Amino acid sequence: MYWMDVLIFVFGLCWGSFLALMAYRIPRKISIVVPRSFCDSCNDKIEFFNNIPIISYLLLKGKCKKCGAKIPVRYPVIELITAILFVFAYERLFYDYYSLIRALLLVTALLPSIFIDLDERIIPDRLSIGLIICGFALSLFDPMMAWHESAAGIVVGGGLLFIVAEGYYRLTGREGLGGGDIKLLAGIGALLGWYPALMVIFYSSILGSIYGIAMMIIFKKGRLTEIPFGPFIGASAILYYFIMEGGLIR
Ligand SMILES: [Zn+2]
Repeated sequence: MYWMDVLIFVFGLCWGSFLALMAYRIPRKISIVVPRSFCDSCNDKIEFFNNIPIISYLLLKGKCKKCGAKIPVRYPVIELITAILFVFAYERLFYDYYSLIRALLLVTALLPSIFIDLDERIIPDRLSIGLIICGFALSLFDPMMAWHESAAGIVVGGGLLFIVAEGYYRLTGREGLGGGDIKLLAGIGALLGWYPALMVIFYSSILGSIYGIAMMIIFKKGRLTEIPFGPFIGASAILYYFIMEGGLIR
């Protein structure tokens, strides 16, 4: 058991490294497969022994070996978050392969979406629509979740957020939620079902409000500065799934 956890942790670090690469490359339209890892500043190829998750970051003291440019701290952070989530998923969900696949899909689609939305204010279709397709496809095989539950998740998750977005726009004349948020929530609904999708809307609104109020108090800004909503949706869905489904609260 102990060695298996270590193995899963290491696998999680490597997978997290891939997710960080997705978060960087997808909005820049660079293939996530072909070019090897390279430095953002000098474009120098990173040798495999300088590309070990976390360890290389610490050994290189967060700097590119060739040009000395700072390596963004988000790389080791994403690697570590992924590794912790994977160990948790393995410990709590390993008896149910479908729940395990679900956890893997959720983390793979949502972690890059969170960082891309923070940077670029978009959620790529490859991640959101990809999640809708994978979630629905999984329900065709999963004995614990029927395909119509997945379909209801798409309709409730996407539909409800669409209504909220439309209402907000009509009331304020500003676009608070984008199509990317709606598609992402439809994907979460496809994967988890309609009730969790509803809960994710609820929790992300609370998280977003707390953050918004905190920002207003700290920076004394009169009105809400434009904050992308996708990161709150992504974080809420991951927390909801791992805490509720993972059995942290039961
Ligand atoms: Zn460099």
